[in-house]
Amino acid sequence: MTHPTGWGLIGASNVAREWIIDAIRAQPGSEVRAVLSSSAERGAAFARDNDIAWHTTSLDDLLSRPDIDAVYVSTNNRLHFEQTIAAARAGKHVLCEKPLALSVEDANEMVRVCRACDVVLGTNHHLRNAATHIAIHGMIEDGRVGRLIGGRVFHANYLAAALQGWRVNDQGGGVILDSTIHDIDTLRFLFDQDPISVFAMTQSGRLAQDGIEDGIMAVLRFPDDMLVQIHGGYTVPYAPGGVEIMGERGVIIGRDCMSQRPIGTVSVRDGDGEREIPLKHHNLYHRALELFTDAIHGGGLPAATGEDGVASLAIALALRESARTGREIGVDLP
Ligand code: NDP
Repeated sequence: MTHPTGWGLIGASNVAREWIIDAIRAQPGSEVRAVLSSSAERGAAFARDNDIAWHTTSLDDLLSRPDIDAVYVSTNNRLHFEQTIAAARAGKHVLCEKPLALSVEDANEMVRVCRACDVVLGTNHHLRNAATHIAIHGMIEDGRVGRLIGGRVFHANYLAAALQGWRVNDQGGGVILDSTIHDIDTLRFLFDQDPISVFAMTQSGRLAQDGIEDGIMAVLRFPDDMLVQIHGGYTVPYAPGGVEIMGERGVIIGRDCMSQRPIGTVSVRDGDGEREIPLKHHNLYHRALELFTDAIHGGGLPAATGEDGVASLAIALALRESARTGREIGVDLP
């Protein structure tokens, strides 16, 4: 369905360039009309390279344009809060990158203000759009492997040299808020529930400095005495990414499914051996933008809502707290 939608990009970022501009343009009637950068020079180059007609360094100027209905916030993590609040107050719908904010209080406030201003807030947790995770979710819902015992997420890789900036040298960075938060959101999506408590140990110093973590092993306790393990990292070359969900009657195995790309397989292994489930892959970000566009035109919810963003952030921060204190931390969601 065609929904005419004008978009402004808040942030001349890599993720906008690589994925989101294309995903916006894939929606019938959607146009990228403007980009905001804190640097006029970077904004001009980004606009030119990505065929965007207008660029600015003024958030007010971008938000005062009547032909912009929605904004995509993908600036440095510490800016998401104030930019989202300003956009909502200007009546713009907001698709915000994760983490929504650096504190649960700020993220909650973003949800509250967007609701009060009657605009849609989505969080760009892309993995729940993957054909692999949608299939795994369906199999769990159908009870395919029986009562669940637990699972494992493997999402450790080697951070490309080009990405070794704010992720490893800024307190808004670190593997937990950058990557493990996606694993948390994916688990919340797969199980349709939140963990009760978490325990984590982290590593630092191979790539990241000043106590910023560049590796994590964590355990999340879900209701019904279910334990799930996450391994995340920036310093692990060649490791495959995946998910395993263990039930009393078998295991669901997702291979290469912790990726931005539409790849990976899903198999089930039980008393009859291992069988691969047929999948039809699609671009994860196209689906995110499709659901978000439908939501702002009155049809349904974004793939991950603002509330999902708050919950995943709260759990991510609980992991950090656990690593800092050496204690199991209860998850107390708003
Ligand atoms: P980038 O580092 O590419 O961009 C972040 C900000 O850095 C930009 O807004 C830009 O500021 C500034 N910047 C970019 N290039 C330069 C430069 N050469 N010199 C100085 N500043 C520069 O970040 P990412 O695209 O990797 O991440 C952006 C956000 O998106 C983060 O919140 C991240 O967590 C999230 N993300 C989400 C992904 C997903 O799949 N959901 C994937 C990757 C990231 P300005 O706008 O002022 O020009």
